Amino acid sequence: MADPTDSDSTSKLEGIVIPTELLPSDGRFGSGPSKVRPQAVAALAAAADAYLGTSHRQATVKNTVARLRHGLRDFFGLPEGYEVLLGNGGATAFWDAMVFGLIERRSQHFVFGEFSSKCAQAATAAPHLGDPGSSDRNPAPIRNPSLTRTSICTRSRTTRPRPGSPCLFAGRRRRDSPSSTEPRPLQVCVDPHNYDVYYFAPQKGFASDGGMWIALCSPAAVERIQRIAASDRYVPASLDLKVALDNSVKDQTYNTPGLATIFLMLEQLEWMLRNGGLGWSSGRCDRSAEILYGWADSSKVAVPFVMDPAQRSHVVGTIDFGDRVDAAALATVLRSNGIVDTEPYRKLGRNQLRIAMYPAIDPDDIEALTRSIDHVVEALA
Ligand SMILES: *Cc1c(COP(=O)(O)O)cnc(C)c1O
Repeated sequence: MADPTDSDSTSKLEGIVIPTELLPSDGRFGSGPSKVRPQAVAALAAAADAYLGTSHRQATVKNTVARLRHGLRDFFGLPEGYEVLLGNGGATAFWDAMVFGLIERRSQHFVFGEFSSKCAQAATAAPHLGDPGSSDRNPAPIRNPSLTRTSICTRSRTTRPRPGSPCLFAGRRRRDSPSSTEPRPLQVCVDPHNYDVYYFAPQKGFASDGGMWIALCSPAAVERIQRIAASDRYVPASLDLKVALDNSVKDQTYNTPGLATIFLMLEQLEWMLRNGGLGWSSGRCDRSAEILYGWADSSKVAVPFVMDPAQRSHVVGTIDFGDRVDAAALATVLRSNGIVDTEPYRKLGRNQLRIAMYPAIDPDDIEALTRSIDHVVEALA
């Protein structure tokens, strides 16, 4: 088996050429930062002279933030009283903001993977909070139950633990519900009645760049933010959700945001809204997932890592390879042919590829990717 760290075998691998007609039109399959649509970049370039390098306190940028906040209300069907908050520092900074500004005494965490465990760690480390309860939700059908979940791309139902309870419920973008008679997966978990705070970063499903967090907050969450802010708890200003709330309702951020990030996210959001919104976007991911898992299911060398089809993510797929194929070598060849970021999640250490299927990624390109993989597997044999 080729060792991709060995320079001789690397140059040999890089000599394998995938025929142009097999290649996807866009070779970006990373899970974040993820593919940014070239049309969005072109729109940014066209608007750049009047937009980039201008004040985030003036109408040009504030109108863009306003459109983004309105678009998100639309896309997620937010009822009256919900607020769209945004701030700097990515989803990671939001965990710390949550520790200061949303958790009153103690929290309970469902750990699905690397990121949710980091979120739980942030709450555990906070000296002003009680020890959180934490429950590991690694499901039995996963091949190796000790492995974490976001990293391996499963999906699970996220609804309020106790409807009507005074607890706030915070969640991140997840998917659920395999039956076609039920609402689409993404629509179940993003039903605003099922969460108080729903947060994400723009470099994943919204095909933008990193550096920001966005949080959709229910009236109960807004009330909680205000109540904690009125207490005598010390809160650093850059992590203060009341400061974020006061700025967000004025369509601005506390400190300077990435203007390109905001613009690219709005481009992607409005593109998805024009095409049919959440239902359309979710359907596109379903189509990509059908192609990827369908190919792996019928392949002689590959198999979906998550065995139960109902638990497979439709936004990021993980594919295991048998002993005869070295996935690292495969990823090296793909990369040298312009197909990038299919390497597995680093901490997982599996002989697998990880492939994003976000709405920006064309299902036809997922198909082309599977053809390209087949070609490389044959060339490596
Ligand atoms: C990407 C990701 C994060 C981290 O986001 P940053 O913007 O890099 O801080 C956190 N949680 C989940 C579930 C993610 O997918």
